[in-house]
Amino acid sequence: MAVYKAEGVVLGRHSLGEADRVLDLFTREFGRLRAKAKAVRRTTSRLAGKLEPFSHAHFLLARGRALDVVTQVEVVDSHTGLREDLNRLGYAWLVADLTLQLVPEAEPHPPVFGLLLAGLELLQHHDPAVAASWYGLRLFGELGYRPSHDRCPSCGAPVRGDLWSPLLGGFCCARCGEGDLRHVRLGGEAAGALRFLVQASAEEVARLRVSGRAAARLVAAVVSYAEARADRPLRAARVLQALER
Ligand SMILES: [Zn+2]
Repeated sequence: MAVYKAEGVVLGRHSLGEADRVLDLFTREFGRLRAKAKAVRRTTSRLAGKLEPFSHAHFLLARGRALDVVTQVEVVDSHTGLREDLNRLGYAWLVADLTLQLVPEAEPHPPVFGLLLAGLELLQHHDPAVAASWYGLRLFGELGYRPSHDRCPSCGAPVRGDLWSPLLGGFCCARCGEGDLRHVRLGGEAAGALRFLVQASAEEVARLRVSGRAAARLVAAVVSYAEARADRPLRAARVLQALER
């Protein structure tokens, strides 16, 4: 049986049959892939504890007929801090959901893998709403649809305001904004933070402070933009809204 190695992060998992799981992995070498972990829901499994959501690990996989099979796991960082805090966990699911909805399967994207590791690190130690927003905005850029921050995406006029159009593709002018029913005024603080995050490095994000109100608007702007690109709702966004209530 052919085996291969991959470095990856567990972004999701689903039960399969009596004791197996299917894992959604994002790997440095192969991008997004799904793999089967056999018998990991049994208490005797050697692998079970190593396949928690958001674990970063080196995997040994065997080619399978329908799905490849995880045979060995060497954990690099289990990101325990994300699973012990409900708020951080909610935003970590948003990061996973953004990746699963927007990145096509089986396409290598090494810069996105680097971005994901940096995002998970920020999520553990800094404002998780800001960290998840930064990840989303930079992900859009890596995938070729970075939001427009200084020119209206529709007519090209310079824009400095806070009118955000998920459909048109970023900050837009008042006239064009009317064409998008989901256009919204973000307010000065959230608009400023968004413009900053589109181009910020992970180190710069760690120094950014925003109010809770602006952070919520920032997240909503990123979610609406992602949903317009994916053309479907992000499940994690609904979970976050429920958490906030
Ligand atoms: Zn315009």
